[in-house]
Formats: sequence, structure tokens, C-alpha cells
Amino acid sequence: MSITTLLSEMTNKQQEEKESLNLFFSTQTVIQKALTKLGYKNEMYELLKEPIRLLTVRIPVRMDDGTVKVFTGYRSQHNDAVGPTKGGVRFHPDVDEEEVKALSIWMTLKCGITNLPYGGGKGGIICDPRKMSFRELERLSRGYVRAISQIVGPTKDIPAPDVYTNSQIMAWMMDEYSRLREFDSPGFITGKPIVLGGSQGRETATARGVTICIEEAVKKKGINLQGARVVIQGFGNAGSYLAKFMHDAGAKVIGISDVYGAIHDPNGLDIDYLLDRRDSFGTVTQLFKDTITNQELLELDCDILVPAAISNQITAKNAANIKASIVVEAANGPTTLEATKILTERGVLLVPDILASAGGVTVSYFEWVQNNQGYYWTEEEVNDKLSKVMICSFENIYQTSQTHQVDMRLAAYMVGIRKVAEASSFRGWV
Ligand code: GLU
Repeated sequence: MSITTLLSEMTNKQQEEKESLNLFFSTQTVIQKALTKLGYKNEMYELLKEPIRLLTVRIPVRMDDGTVKVFTGYRSQHNDAVGPTKGGVRFHPDVDEEEVKALSIWMTLKCGITNLPYGGGKGGIICDPRKMSFRELERLSRGYVRAISQIVGPTKDIPAPDVYTNSQIMAWMMDEYSRLREFDSPGFITGKPIVLGGSQGRETATARGVTICIEEAVKKKGINLQGARVVIQGFGNAGSYLAKFMHDAGAKVIGISDVYGAIHDPNGLDIDYLLDRRDSFGTVTQLFKDTITNQELLELDCDILVPAAISNQITAKNAANIKASIVVEAANGPTTLEATKILTERGVLLVPDILASAGGVTVSYFEWVQNNQGYYWTEEEVNDKLSKVMICSFENIYQTSQTHQVDMRLAAYMVGIRKVAEASSFRGWV
């Protein structure tokens, strides 16, 4: 082989690796595959490969020291053929346009999988809430709503919490929107405090959805959840409640992590102690001397691995070393497409993010329904409805993967994209 061919092959390989880490690119790749499998023409892909609307805003915020800082924010609306768009708003230093766009497409897929009457949306602000005061966060949240108010609303696009945003931030945003419109608009946003029209069960919904996926996955694999060894990467909203639910179900949580590192105990960690000591950003490992790295955590000997932190954690580099036989993605995009292939070939059952993390938006939908009807359900009613949706979605995707002989990720995309494609064609858009 000539040196030029060798070099160009290396560049191709490097290029592939780079593309595999790019969430937007890999989302488009799987969407194209799913639409082809479903028999749609390229025109449908042309419509669905990008959001229909993306708004970039600049938000001036008066900081506590009297200076003004200008933040950049986004709101992306993927497609509204099925209904209003829906999805969270994240506050994070790494937010960027491509990520927000990819995440809004995933919301379409999540809503398609769970059969909710929504399209996908997502928002984000480039900021570090860990370095901002309570009042600065309030001013930023209100400024964001003023900046995007033209394109959002209870029947247009409904925001919700996401990374580093919570019910307090939803409360400020709801209040700002209600003031702008001059009437109370609880249905503008979900994930609110209960007293402002939030739903019972919304706080724990994502973790409950992941738990149901784990319960269904162990049945398929013939594993007993009692005593099964679980490793959870990330101790935020999803990871921490999940640790609790797994512990309560009799599983052994042997490893957890946060942004600073990971802790491991083959005999099972003291989950109640960890929950008690974690801070509001989900950090707890700094209290321990004996820690391991996040990478070491992923490769621990266990039965069930749940990446519940950030994207691109399981890649071509470490997929062969993953020991779990079930991987359930509670985070968005934790496994690259190359790693998905490696894990599937090794017989690992991978439950993809757009299914596993769909519990949050499902209960957000219940919250919106309750706001619209002004009549509120008990926690049991909400959990029961969530359970039905998740079990049915899991089974549908599992069966699709068996029938079409494809991995669960492609199956989930096929199920998720079908509804928006059908709605777009009935509307005569394609
Ligand atoms: N941010 C969550 C997600 O990515 C929830 C979205 C919602 O509740 O609308 O699924």
C-alpha cells in the first residue's frame, strides 16, 4: 500500500471517528437508515434531517456586581406536524447550536416512541449555573423567555427542565410568560413546582422510565433483578433516583459517579447515605478518598450499566471492555454508533436513550394535560399511566428490532420517526 493511500485511509478513519462523536451527524445517519427501512423517499429525509426553526438569542443580564453579561441562547423546533413542539432547556457551558438541533430531533423521536401528540423542541443557554447566584439565574431565565416568547406557548412549543435546570427555573419562566401574555399560563412549561401546576411524579419520572426499561430488559435476558449488580454513571436527577429505585428493587448498586470521579464497592454502596450527601448539582464523590475514574467505572464487572451523565462515554475505544450484558442509556447520546455496533455484536442488550429517557417527557405531557383540564391526578395515577406507556414502548421497539433484525437503536428510530413522517405526509408537506 502506498503511503498516500495509507495516509488517506488514516484520515478517513479519523474523519469517521470525529463524525461518530458528532451527535447531530450520527442522528442524521440513523434517521436516514430508519426512513429507508420504512420505505420513505429521500424527500422525507430532506424534511426531517434538520429542525424547521432555530432561533438564536442574545440575553443581557445584570449581574450582582452591577456589570452586564450577555449570554447566548437557542431554541430549536424540529417538526410540528404532529402537534406543538416540546422539550427541555439546558443551562451548560458546552451548549452549542448543533447539540441543541440534535437534541430537538431526539425529542421528536421520544414523543413518537411514546405516542405523545407533540413534535420535538429543545433549548439551551451557554452559561455555567454553578458559578451564578440565585438572582442572576432568575434574571437569565426571565430574559430567555422574553427573547423566545414569539415562538413558544402552550399550543406552540412547551419547554421543560433539562441539564442543570430545575422546577425553580421553570417557575420563573412560567411567571415571566404569564406576565407577558397577561394571563396565567401554567401549560406554557412543564416540570414546575407542584403548587404552580406541576405534576405528581414529574421529578422522578425519568428515573422511573429507566427503571421500567431495566425491568423489561432483564426479563428478555433472563437475569434476576434481585441481586443484579448495577453501575450508574452520573448522580444527577436521573442517576440518583435510579440508584434509589434499583436499591429498593433489591438490585446491588456497586458503582456510581459524578463529574469529579467514581466510587465502587462490590458489596453494594450505601445509597441512602449518598442521596443524603449529594448536592443540588449531583456531586458526592469528593467526600471519598478511595475513588476510581469515570472510565474505570464504565468497565467494572457488573450486569447492568446505566450511563446517566453526558454524551460520548462508550466509544470504539472502550466498547470491547464493557462487561455488562445490559446497557440502558439514561443520558442523551452516551454511546457512539461504532460502539453500538461493537456492543450489539457482542450480544449486549442496549436500550437506547430515546426510549430509556422518555419517562420525563411522558410525565411532562401528563402535566400539560392536567394544566389544560385543570384537574389533577394522584402520584399513583401518574405512575400507573407512565408505566403503561413505557412497557408498551419498550415492547414495540423490542419486537421491531426482532422483526427487522436490527439493533434496538435503529428500531427505536424507526418507531420514533414513523409518526412525524406520516403526519408530514397527511399534511401534504412531502
Ligand atoms: N429534558 C427532558 C428530555 O430530554 C424532558 C423534556 C420534557 O419534559 O419536555 O427528555
